[in-house]
Amino acid sequence: MSDCVFCKIIKGEIPSIKVYENDDIIVFKDINPAAPIHVLVVPKVHIECLEALNQDNIDVVTKIHAAILETTKILGINTDGYRVIVNCGKNGGQTVPHLHYHILGGAEFGEKII
Ligand code: AMP
Ligand code: ZN
Repeated sequence: MSDCVFCKIIKGEIPSIKVYENDDIIVFKDINPAAPIHVLVVPKVHIECLEALNQDNIDVVTKIHAAILETTKILGINTDGYRVIVNCGKNGGQTVPHLHYHILGGAEFGEKII
């Protein structure tokens, strides 16, 4: 997707502050953090949202979750805990149409989701 901001970050055409990367996944700091620690876990393949997952690409979910575990260790939030959020579509408030998982940490968020 040539006009996708996250594809541009993956290709290095837009700068980002990388926290973790492997062949399939990139993790970088959110440009507008909603918590003391706020990073985005992004598959390198362009998948629009959770609803675009199918039998052919759903293996990426395992890779995303493995990258989350690497990232929370790197950021030192694996023991205190964190929140993972995936927004999907209009009602989910998704603004970038490339599947991504938010990791929020560094604070105690309480029981309410929003
Ligand atoms: P969502 O609303 O779930 O689609 O989240 C998109 C997130 O991407 C927001 O939290 C934005 O702050 C973040 N974002 C947008 N552009 C960039 C960028 N160039 N670098 C880092 N984060 C970005
Ligand atoms: Zn993309």
